[in-house]
Amino acid sequence: MANRLEGKIVAITGGSQGIGLAIAQRFAQEGADISFCYRSNKAGADEVVQDIQKLGRKCAGFQSDVGLVSDGQKFIADTVTQFGRIDILVNNAGLERNADFWNVTEADYDAVLNVNLKGLFFITQAFVKHRMDVPSSDRKPGGKIINISSVHEELPFPHFASYCASKGGVKMLTRNLSIELAPLGITINSIAPGAIETPINTKLLNDPAKLHALLENIPLKRLGKPEDVASMAVFLASSESDYATGTTFFLDGGLTWNYQEQ
Ligand code: NAD
Repeated sequence: MANRLEGKIVAITGGSQGIGLAIAQRFAQEGADISFCYRSNKAGADEVVQDIQKLGRKCAGFQSDVGLVSDGQKFIADTVTQFGRIDILVNNAGLERNADFWNVTEADYDAVLNVNLKGLFFITQAFVKHRMDVPSSDRKPGGKIINISSVHEELPFPHFASYCASKGGVKMLTRNLSIELAPLGITINSIAPGAIETPINTKLLNDPAKLHALLENIPLKRLGKPEDVASMAVFLASSESDYATGTTFFLDGGLTWNYQEQ
C-alpha cells in the first residue's frame, strides 16, 4: 500500500514519549514530515528527531509548554517557519492529577486545564489562522485536526475531576469546531483511548491488583498500545477519513460499554 501521508506536514504536541511518540513514528513511516513539541526532555526529543530523520523524513522538536498560550502559538509559528506549512495538527499533550474533589488545588486544576483544554484550544486556533493565511491555491487539500481525548470525555473517573472536565471540554470543542471549520475545508475529530501502556499509567502498571481489576473490565483483555492509537490516527489523518468530522472514535478494547467504577 502506498504511504498514506506522503508529502504531509504534521505538528504534534507532546511528541517525545507515549502516544505522541508512536504517532510521530508511524506518521513518518507513512511519508509525513514531523514537527513536534516537548515540555522539557531535550535529550529524548533529540533522539526522536534522529530516529525519524533516519527514515528519510524531515523532523524537528521544539521546546514548548502547551499550558502557556504564547508557547503554543510559537510552536505553530516555528513549525511554519521551518516546514513552510502545516497540513495536520495532532493535539496529544495531556496530563492528569489524582485527588479527592475537595482537595484539588487551584494549581493542579490549572495545570490540567491549561494543557488539556486551554492550550489545545489556542494551538488549534493558531493552526486554523495559519491555514487561513495560506492562499487556497497553495493549501494542500484536507486540513485535519486530531485531538487525543479520552474515554473520560464520556465516563466518570472519580478522583480525576479536572481531567474529566478537560476531556469533556475537548469533546464539545471537537463537535463545535466541526461546524465552524467545515467551510474552511478543515475536519476535526477526537480519538478516545481507554487504558494505554504509556508513562501516564506508570502507577497502574506497577499495581498488579488494580491492573487485574481493570483487565477484568476490558472485554479484549489487554491494555492498548500506543501503536493502536497511532493506527487510528493515521486513518484520521489520511484522505480515507475525509467524510468524518466532529466525532470521537473510541479505542478502548470494549471498556466503555463494560465500564465499572474501580
Ligand atoms: P504521557 O504522559 O506518556 O505523555 C504525555 C505527553 O504530553 C508527554 O509528551 C508530555 O511531555 C506532554 N505534555 C504534558 N504536559 C505538557 C506541557 N505543559 N507542554 C508540552 N507537553 C506536555 O501520556 P500518554 O498516555 O502518551 O498521553 C497522551 C495523551 O493521551 C494525553 O492527552 C492523555 O490524556 C491521552 N490519553 C492517554 C491514555 C492512556 O491510558 N495512556 C488514555 C486516554 C487518553
